[in-house]
Order: sequence, then C-alpha cells, then structure tokens
Amino acid sequence: MGLFKKREYIRITPSQQEKQDSTQQKPFVPDGTWEKCPSCHKPLHKKELGEERTCHHCGYGFRIGAKQRLDLIVDENSFEAWDTDIAFKNPINFPNYEEKLNKAKELTGLDEAVLTGKASINGLEVVIGIMDSRFIMGSMSSVVGEKITRAFEKATDLGLPVIMFTASGGARMQEGIMSLMQMAKISASVKRHSEVGLLYITVLTDPTTGGVTASFGMQGDIILAEPQTMIGFAGRRVIEQTIRQKLPDDFQKAEFLLEHGFVDKIVPRNELKETLGFLLMFHTKGVTIDES
Ligand SMILES: [Zn+2]
Repeated sequence: MGLFKKREYIRITPSQQEKQDSTQQKPFVPDGTWEKCPSCHKPLHKKELGEERTCHHCGYGFRIGAKQRLDLIVDENSFEAWDTDIAFKNPINFPNYEEKLNKAKELTGLDEAVLTGKASINGLEVVIGIMDSRFIMGSMSSVVGEKITRAFEKATDLGLPVIMFTASGGARMQEGIMSLMQMAKISASVKRHSEVGLLYITVLTDPTTGGVTASFGMQGDIILAEPQTMIGFAGRRVIEQTIRQKLPDDFQKAEFLLEHGFVDKIVPRNELKETLGFLLMFHTKGVTIDES
C-alpha cells in the first residue's frame, strides 16, 4: 500500500517580491502600440517614431514606402512620375508570377518596385528614383531595370542630376538571368550620364543588397546612407560558410562601410532633404552660395 501513498511535498508560495517581478515582466500592452527597433532591438512607442519613422536610440530609419519617402524629400507637388505603364513580361514563364506582382501592386499602390520621375528639392530640379522594399523585396525585374535606365537617359538629355534611393533584396528570381542583365544595362546608362559631367547621388537605405549594391547602388559620385542600414552583396551566413570565418558584428552596416571607405557620409533621415538640397546647389552651374 505504501507504494501508492501520496507523497508530501513542501508547498512553495511566491514571495511578494517575486509576484511583483513577474507582473513587471509581463506588462499589459495594447496591440500595435509598440514596435521593436530591428537594429538596436529597443522598444519604441509608435508616437516616438514620428512621421519620419526613425529610432531615437540608434538612428535607424524604419523601412518606408516609396511614396512616403517622396513626401519627405521633394518639394510639395513637384513630382512628375515617369514610365508607369511599361508592359509586364514573364520571361521564363515562372508559375504564379503575375499574381504575385498584382498583389504587390495592390499593397504598395505602385506599378513596380521603383518609382522614377522628375521633381525639385529646395527649388532645384532633379531626376529621382525611389525603390520600395515592400514590392517583392525591391527586387530587380526587367521593368525596374528599364525604368531606372530610362530615368538616367532622360536625365542625360535634360542635363539634370540623378538621386537614387536604393532598397532591395537583389535579383528577382522569377525573371532569372533577365534580372541579372539589368545590372549591366543600368550601369551603361549611369556611365553615359557621368560622361557628360552630370551628378549622381545614391542614398542607401535598409536593406541594400545583391545586384543593386553590385551596380548602381555603388556607382554614385556621392554615396550617402541612412544610419544602421544593412548594405551588402551576399548574405552574412553565405560568406561565413564560404570563408569559414566569423564576421564582425557590425559587418554590412552603414557605419562599417563608412569606416572602410565605401560610403561617403551617414545622414539621419531628418537631415536628408537639407543635405541633398545643399549637394545639388553646390553642384549646380551658375548658382552662388549666399553667405549672408
Ligand atoms: Zn534602434
């Protein structure tokens, strides 16, 4: 009978301090009020992010849509969109590609992963391109390549500088080699724009990777980046497995690239318009800086 006898255990009740600690660990948080910074992992109240959506702890700029970016950078009502009706092609007949594309169009209100056109910044005309990472990870399709190439060609004809905001996961796998060919095509138009002495500024935003980094992302005369932006070509894990070495923690961060000479300046989002306006003015022929 002794075998089935219930054992006596000492009952431990949590102390007052422990009770307090456990309630502190699990505070009541209404849904959607807080966000975690993807860079420094600190919690941020939605209101703290502000219109510019930046982390006040580390300066990281949260990913924003192309239209939102446009509102932050260009003069009001100055934007004229270009090439929004380039016909869709499915070059390698990738299954369900068109449906995926239509979903991305619905989500972003854009025709493709890049917005191009003409606008003014502090009254100075510029050709602008803004990538949107929400559109199939800002990947490079033939249409993206064509839009950017046309933007550079028109800028060359009009004698205007170009500013490109990059945000991309790289190639669009649904288009296979056609996607990779865009790198060479865009680079040729960047070169022609450069040969007539026109200014090209890139602003690398989170994330700028793959073929975009390997082509027009790094071809700017001036390369700016937002704080804590992830910039790279291949992913961290792929490189570590290939070279069998552990990479530094800040590897592929804008700050690391600045230190190693790949980026000219890191500019917080709230200073971008002013910085770009200054650079445009500084490089515009016949404009003198008023020192008064
Ligand atoms: Zn942060």
